[in-house]
Amino acid sequence: MTVARVRNDPGGRLALRERFYQRFDRGPEGGPGFGRSELDFIRWEIARGVLATPQDGGSPWWRAVNERLLYHAELAALIHEQLPDASPGIGAVRFWLDFIRKPSAIGWYRAHNASIVDGYLDSVDLAHAEPWSERIWVNVVLYRLLYAQGLVEGVSLGRLGEILSDPIGPSVDVLVHVPAFYPDKYPLSRSEVQTLLQKSHRLLPELAGEFDDLFVIPELVNLYADAAGWIGQTGLELLLRDGKPCYPAGDAAEPTPGPDREPPPSPGPKRRIAILGGGLASLSAAYELTSYDGWRDRYEVTLYQIGWRLGGKTSNGFGPAGRIQERGIHIFQGWYQNAFRMVQDAYAYMEAHDLAPGSPLPKWTDAFVPDDATLFTEFDHTRGVWTNWPVLFPYDDKLPGTAGPPPLHEILREAVGLLAELLLGSPYQDNQGCIAKLLSPALIEWFFTPPWEKTAPDWWKHASDLSDQSHASVERRELRWLKQAADLLGQLKAQPTLKLGPWEVSALRVATELVSACVALLRLAAPADTASESRLEHIVVLAEFGLANLRGVLADVYDEKTHQFDFHRINDFDYREWLLTHGLPSAFSDSAPVRFIYCGAFHNLYGNAPGRLAADMGVRSLLASVTYRGSLVWKLTAGTGGSLTAPLYKMLAHRGVRFEFFRDVEEVHWSPHGEIQTITVGVQAGLAPGLSEYAPLTKVKGLDGWPSHPLYEKLDPEQAKRLEHERVDLESPWSPWRPVRAQLLRRGIDFDDVILGIPIGQTAKICASIVERSVAWKKMVDHVRTTPTLGVQLWLRPTLSELGMDLAKWGMPPGDQPNSVIYADLLYSWTDMGLVLPFEGWSPDDIPGQLSYYCGTWALEGPLPPFSDHGFPAREQARLIEYTRGWLGQNMGWFFPKAIQPGNRFDFSLLVDPRDPQNEQAQSGEQRFVAQWFVANIEPTNHYTLAWPGSDRFRLRANESGFENLFLCGDWTNFGLNIGHVEGAVTSGLIAAQALLVARHQTKLRPIFADAGSAEAG
Ligand SMILES: Cc1cc2nc3c(=O)[nH]c(=O)nc-3n(C[C@H](O)[C@H](O)[C@H](O)COP(=O)(O)OP(=O)(O)OC[C@H]3O[C@@H](n4cnc5c(N)ncnc54)[C@H](O)[C@@H]3O)c2cc1C
Repeated sequence: MTVARVRNDPGGRLALRERFYQRFDRGPEGGPGFGRSELDFIRWEIARGVLATPQDGGSPWWRAVNERLLYHAELAALIHEQLPDASPGIGAVRFWLDFIRKPSAIGWYRAHNASIVDGYLDSVDLAHAEPWSERIWVNVVLYRLLYAQGLVEGVSLGRLGEILSDPIGPSVDVLVHVPAFYPDKYPLSRSEVQTLLQKSHRLLPELAGEFDDLFVIPELVNLYADAAGWIGQTGLELLLRDGKPCYPAGDAAEPTPGPDREPPPSPGPKRRIAILGGGLASLSAAYELTSYDGWRDRYEVTLYQIGWRLGGKTSNGFGPAGRIQERGIHIFQGWYQNAFRMVQDAYAYMEAHDLAPGSPLPKWTDAFVPDDATLFTEFDHTRGVWTNWPVLFPYDDKLPGTAGPPPLHEILREAVGLLAELLLGSPYQDNQGCIAKLLSPALIEWFFTPPWEKTAPDWWKHASDLSDQSHASVERRELRWLKQAADLLGQLKAQPTLKLGPWEVSALRVATELVSACVALLRLAAPADTASESRLEHIVVLAEFGLANLRGVLADVYDEKTHQFDFHRINDFDYREWLLTHGLPSAFSDSAPVRFIYCGAFHNLYGNAPGRLAADMGVRSLLASVTYRGSLVWKLTAGTGGSLTAPLYKMLAHRGVRFEFFRDVEEVHWSPHGEIQTITVGVQAGLAPGLSEYAPLTKVKGLDGWPSHPLYEKLDPEQAKRLEHERVDLESPWSPWRPVRAQLLRRGIDFDDVILGIPIGQTAKICASIVERSVAWKKMVDHVRTTPTLGVQLWLRPTLSELGMDLAKWGMPPGDQPNSVIYADLLYSWTDMGLVLPFEGWSPDDIPGQLSYYCGTWALEGPLPPFSDHGFPAREQARLIEYTRGWLGQNMGWFFPKAIQPGNRFDFSLLVDPRDPQNEQAQSGEQRFVAQWFVANIEPTNHYTLAWPGSDRFRLRANESGFENLFLCGDWTNFGLNIGHVEGAVTSGLIAAQALLVARHQTKLRPIFADAGSAEAG
């Protein structure tokens, strides 16, 4: 009873213990005797705040262990006073009774340590919920305590031990006031405990270090075994593994509730959802959670984000002259149905609530624009030159975001249609060779919906003109075969789902071989064409590529037993190797379409070796791209911030989502009851006086976006001064900046459910104790690979044509802003991003003539260095700048012949320095060059997530975390088309949110668009 009364009163706990010692253990001068060190220790616990209630920041674990001590001692006192002849069953109580009857140093240690060890063993679940640092720390506290007992028990190590351990002496009092031994903060941060253990203390440095490392640690196995005997607690030995303290993980036994166990916090009427990370997956989860009527009555949603901005890999910021600085090229594709729906909802919401009055981009169709100008830029090995292959993915009048993909048989037909359009469409129509002329009417007739059944798109008009010119040729034998193949493919139309019968599959196989024979015939029939017309070669490349895919799908993806297409069956293979085994001629193994799939997703290189891409992801990306709406490529008019993440932030903040910026999530802690119990967060900076929240956006030319550094005026002035002066990058793990304080989020108080949206590169650290415990998590972090990437942006004074790029010669109309994903490594992806220039801060006189973005895989020179290597980011950036200097000179002449000077040097005087665009003549080319934007995305969290062969089965789904209240999202989880892309990240967020809603018994859910090739599609 007495113990229960003081449970929530730290001072009362101390008073209870003082009374105990006054009654049973007076020291020589009337003060406390053997209990003195314990009282000092409790005072220290009170000063740290750990005995306060969890609501007031106390620690359930420290409270429980202390309470165990109070309980045993008080029980012993009660027995002593009321049942003097009784012999208690609980070992620790017996020791306390012995101590009461005959106080001694040994008696005190046995009683005290028996209670403490009992408390440790019985609070394993609470310990799991403590931050990593505290878990380390409680092991240190325990072995120090046992060591001290060892000295008193007679296994002493000389005078030093006696001084430190004598509980009557001042040692504990000294120790608990020495921060080196007993810091008075709770919780300790990761770095604090590391510092503590690394002995970097000013006070008593030798003592603290040697005490732990030299004297105690080597003795631990014996010490714990001996101590287990002294206090009758065999469980103590479980707290060592391989001679090292391992509490609480070492004790696998399920804890049994003790008499005074802290009850688990009960959730309030609204569930609190903590979303960790603010990338697109997390934002999409927040969007889904808040898209249901009345969500505010059921949930509170708080998102915790490191640094000052949202977006993660899509994060950007306004730099000097308000220019937009991205982490790389980001485009949407016309099949990103879930992502487009979210974008459309955000713009509709902003309009409905007047959240962006006067915005230059009020509608989503202003912020996202279709762009069909894709170039296949290929190296011709025979001639040793680059060649160009314009691929104008034809526009259609459909809008993305309104429907899911069609079933597979539709996609196959679309694919053939698209192929025909790519080959026969606008860039080629004017001077087609005879083969193309022969093909077009047949293809049009057999693969497309007749024009009277739908509005005629452009390609139809072009193609039907051609068809009129050469109708007679339809009678050719090879084209009859083609027709037969098309008819067989057409049979699939009757199939409503992916499930195809054996007959249809056989038919498809025959069709494939017929088309294959047709291609072979074409090459035979027109050898002259092959040599003279690269168009024919392109037809053949595309046809062979398509056929290898189709053959492979029918042979390996189709499951003869279940008659289902199961793409997982080919996840172990590398896409290119797999295509080669299915008949892709080896000469085409690095052809434009193959490279397009690899480079488009950063799989062309892995370090300095060729990259590998899971075959199923290659095929499924291809299938998905066929289902685009409007255009394959959609560009973001004002970059990722202005067009995408700022509108999302505005919508979510207005809906009531709380955003906690400057929150570095350090560790997620679990309890063996299967729940996430606490989360340690490092607070990177405090807010300026008077501010209760951080408003993160800034405006350039009337458009909201993100700054490229924190808005210092909104932060604690002292911290802001240092952050700005030292140019601290709060997003970089190599930054020397340390959190200004630790924040412990607790289940039942700060959150009930958690959505983890922090990338795999950080998961091993943030979820270290989960990874240690769970084989599934361990396999996931071991198998899901990522790669660093690069982004470079050049602002050029001349226009595209002034730089020497003649669009007409490239098969493109004037005004096009082309993109090429497959040029020379490493800056292989080049895009004309001139469309964002009006949304940068340039004055009308300064506005550059051309804006080039480059992106690619970045190759490190070795493994990532430890985060203590603070100079690493600057060195990598310098390396990227130097690399770019050489690359531009060597390669950019292909696009911008007029920008190259003798000796293959890029003319840097054509660049615009944003800091002084008015005064360009005064600046050297070199000054202008280094003032461009270069970013090496080296931080583990910014690495691109690969679809490595054989890794798919190790990804966890949103609801497979193994914890009842933890849901996973991000492009590293298992969401379907498991490769890093915006649509994938968004889909994973929707799935995670819905998994949570289902777990909380919500039955009515919004549809999520399936990805192409999945069983749900169509
Ligand atoms: C250079 C590049 C170009 C790309 N181009 C395209 C493209 O054109 N089209 C396309 O579809 N896809 C593209 N992608 C892929 C796409 O950007 C990603 O798949 C997608 O953005 C991933 O979103 P995410 O939410 O899963 O992860 P992230 O964007 O990485 O989000 C994770 C979030 O967690 C935060 N975080 C990390 N650590 C902590 C911590 N300790 N505490 C708190 N918060 C933390 C991060 O800051 C971030 O906000 C590209 C990727 C890269 C790298």
